[in-house]
Amino acid sequence: MANSEREDLAWRYLSELGCDKLDKQFVSQRFGNNLVCDIRGKSEKQILIGAHHDKFGVSHGIADNWSGVVVTLSLVNYFKTNPPNHTIRLVLFTGEEKGLVGSRHFVAHSPLPDYMVNLDTLGTAPLKLDRNSSGELRCLVPSGIPEVHLRDITGDWLPFRNAGVPVLAFHALNAELLQKLHTPRDSRSLINDDELKQSYEQILRTVVRLDGR
Ligand SMILES: [Zn+2]
Repeated sequence: MANSEREDLAWRYLSELGCDKLDKQFVSQRFGNNLVCDIRGKSEKQILIGAHHDKFGVSHGIADNWSGVVVTLSLVNYFKTNPPNHTIRLVLFTGEEKGLVGSRHFVAHSPLPDYMVNLDTLGTAPLKLDRNSSGELRCLVPSGIPEVHLRDITGDWLPFRNAGVPVLAFHALNAELLQKLHTPRDSRSLINDDELKQSYEQILRTVVRLDGR
């Protein structure tokens, strides 16, 4: 499935879930759009949850990063029925694999959120927190989630962190999985459904705590 078809599919799912506000942010002819879904809270303060919808070339792009898209859609569903305090802005970014194109565009052209939570490559192994996450937010992450840093790994959290936004970056990577990403081995078989469900619950718990601040 081409990246444009992935974007269309993600848009259709978001449309069906009923965001309070749903927009496409045009990035470029080549990269298409960032998809922006708002669930309005009681305050204007904003938590942005981001996941990229594009995949890398020959990969099927299931772990990286349809898994993050699926968890984001589940969070939309949760906050539709459990209204948040903060406004929750869910953004599916384009062009991550070509140099964080969509997230850089977003940071350059949109109001910055108060917090950013990034979801990239989940359900392949137990959930982990990237060591580049902001120290002040780590106390919100459930205990037992290890902090790791894999060399040279960036993500859509980077433009936000560089702009001064506190970030939490979640993934489920390890050295062995890194070998399989961006190859045809990133397929449905890489996802462990129980891990993905548990990761969703851990991420939800974190966002609910963040929303309570
Ligand atoms: Zn990714």
